[in-house]
Amino acid sequence: MTRVHNFSAGPAALPLSVLEEIKNELPEYGDSGMSVMEMSHRSPAYQAIIEDAEATLRRVMGIPSNYRVLFLQGGATLQFAGIPMNLMRRGRCGHVVTGNFAKKAWQEAARYGDARVLASSEDTHFDRIPALDAVERACVDDDLDYVYICQNNTIFGTQFHTLPNCGDTPLVADVSSCFLSLPIDVERYGLIYAGAQKNAGAAGVTVVIVRDDLIGQSPANPYCPTYMDYRIQADKGSMYNTPNTFGIYVCGKIFRWIEETGGLVAMEQRNRAKANLLYNLLDNSKLFCGTAQKDSRSIANVTFRTPSKELDAEFIAGAAQRGIANIKGHRVAGGMRASIYNAVTLESVRALAAWMDEFESLHCM
Ligand code: PLP
Repeated sequence: MTRVHNFSAGPAALPLSVLEEIKNELPEYGDSGMSVMEMSHRSPAYQAIIEDAEATLRRVMGIPSNYRVLFLQGGATLQFAGIPMNLMRRGRCGHVVTGNFAKKAWQEAARYGDARVLASSEDTHFDRIPALDAVERACVDDDLDYVYICQNNTIFGTQFHTLPNCGDTPLVADVSSCFLSLPIDVERYGLIYAGAQKNAGAAGVTVVIVRDDLIGQSPANPYCPTYMDYRIQADKGSMYNTPNTFGIYVCGKIFRWIEETGGLVAMEQRNRAKANLLYNLLDNSKLFCGTAQKDSRSIANVTFRTPSKELDAEFIAGAAQRGIANIKGHRVAGGMRASIYNAVTLESVRALAAWMDEFESLHCM
C-alpha cells in the first residue's frame, strides 16, 4: 500500500485506522447480517449508530443539553441559505467577510433580508481577520438577529483567534475547516456548522449545532423548505427524510477516534505542532513566504508562495514526485496550501518541510 502525504483541503485525509475499521465492517456491521449501507435508517441497528455518533460528539465537544445536533445534507453551502431562512426573524443580520465562503454566505443571506457587512478583509485580498470593533458596536445598536463569521478561512489560511463579543446577539459560525481541531466553548455560539469532509468524515454530511431557543416553532421564512426547517429536523432526529446513513456512520467513527486519541486538547496540541513547524520554516525562509498576516494565521490551512508562479509550479510538481499530494493553492489564491487537519500526521508535515528545505537550497545559493 502506498498512501501519499495528503494535504487536501477537503475532502481530506482520514485516519488509516478508521479506514481499516470501516473496511472490515463494510460487508457486515456487527451481527446485523448486512452492511451499514444496506440498513434501513429506521432500523434499531441504524438508530443505535446515529445516536452513538451524536452522543460521542456531545462528549468530545462538551455540547450542552440545550443545543440540538443535526446531521444534514447539501454541504456547508446549503446552510448559507438555511441560516437566514431559519434565524432571520426580524429581517436583519451582520456578516464578517473574511474569504470566499464568508462572502458567499453573506450574498446568500442578502437574498432573505438586510444582511450587513460589518467588517471585511477583502481590501487586502483576505490575508487577515479584520478588527471587530464595528461588529461589537452593531451588536449593541443594530437589532441584529445574529452575527455571522467564517471561523477558519480554508482558501486564504486565516482564522479567528478571538471571537467578537456579541453580547446577547447570537454568534453563528461556519467552522467547516476548524471543526474538532481544537476545543471550543459551544455556549459562545448560537449556531455552529461544519461540512464533514475535512475533520469529521466523508463529504455529504453537514453537522449543525444550534441552540434550542433560536429555532422556535417554525422557521423565520415561510418558504423555507421543510427539509431545511431546523425545528423539524431536530424533532425528527435528522430523519425527516433518508439521511446520509453511511456518512453519519463514518462521522461516528471519526468522533470516537478523536475521543480515543486524546480528545480536542490533544488535537489542538498536534495541530499547533504541525502548524508551528511550517510557520517557523516560512518565517526563516529566503524563498517561501506565508500569505496570511501573522496574527491571523490558521492552524488548519497554511498558505504560502515563492516569488513566481513558475517556481510555485515547479515546487508542486516536485512535491507530487515525493508523494506529497494536493499542495496546490486554491485557484482564487494561487501559490500553495498545506491543509493539516487532524488526520495529517507530523511525519507528513516533516516530509513537506524537508521538500521545502531542499527546494530552497536548490534555488537560493
Ligand atoms: N465553508 C468553508 C469554510 C469551506 O471550507 C467550504 C468548502 O471547502 C465550504 C464552506 C463549502 O462547503 P461545501 O462544499 O460542503 O458546501
